[in-house]
Amino acid sequence: MIEMRDVQKHFGALHVLKDINLSIPAGQVTIVLGPSGSGKSTLCRTINRLEPIDSGTIAVDGTVLPAEGKELAQLRADVGMVFQSFNLFAHKSILDNVTLGPIKVRRMNKAEAEKLGMSLLERVGIASQKDKLPAQLSGGQQQRVAIARALAMRPKVMLFDEPTSALDPEMVNEVLDVMTSLAREGMTMLVVTHEMGFARRAGDRVLFMADGEIVEDAPPEQFFTDPKSARAKDFLSKIL
Ligand code: ADP
Ligand code: MG
Repeated sequence: MIEMRDVQKHFGALHVLKDINLSIPAGQVTIVLGPSGSGKSTLCRTINRLEPIDSGTIAVDGTVLPAEGKELAQLRADVGMVFQSFNLFAHKSILDNVTLGPIKVRRMNKAEAEKLGMSLLERVGIASQKDKLPAQLSGGQQQRVAIARALAMRPKVMLFDEPTSALDPEMVNEVLDVMTSLAREGMTMLVVTHEMGFARRAGDRVLFMADGEIVEDAPPEQFFTDPKSARAKDFLSKIL
């Protein structure tokens, strides 16, 4: 579902992705761990071309992502992304936040988009809040809206970049629960997170990044109980 080949990315002199090669099969839940600054967000952002790459190729569901144009908008729609900061449209209602993409990009009519939007809001447990503005919701509720909004595009892949890092502790689980059910339904997911319980429970695979490289690639149990590299051992000793 996601294929990265020989991907290189610099920010000026900083080599932030160093020859990344990665194959993610459909339905896999891949957890990305690593210290701050190791390139986790950049990895996510290159997959839907929020960041251009210097060289290499990235394909989603067999289609190599082009750099620009209409085709890019379509392909980007296949890759849903949820950020640490919810990035909702502040002046639009919750329901409008969810229906805007399907109407504009997927060319769905309004009634159809609203039907889809309501079913997704129900699924994330927020249907009763549909007419409110984002600021009237808690952080956990806003993040669930952001997930519903991404799902409304019927993406083939969902990328999550620290989706619970900005939330008060009591709201973390309501977001992780939605992500867990999505994983169980077979969504292909790449999740940058510091939630180790979730990583162990929901992850099929852990990628550990350091200094722009994928240093370890292992099933969660193996990674957490028997990390191979000194960097991973050091990382785990600080967070567990
Ligand atoms: P992580 O998500 O693992 O914390 P990032 O992918 O955000 O790491 O960043 C990797 C490195 O690239 C860091 O050193 C960061 O400062 C740098 N970086 C990220 N985005 C930019 C940017 N837009 N311009 C310059 N440097 C950046
Ligand atoms: Mg990051």
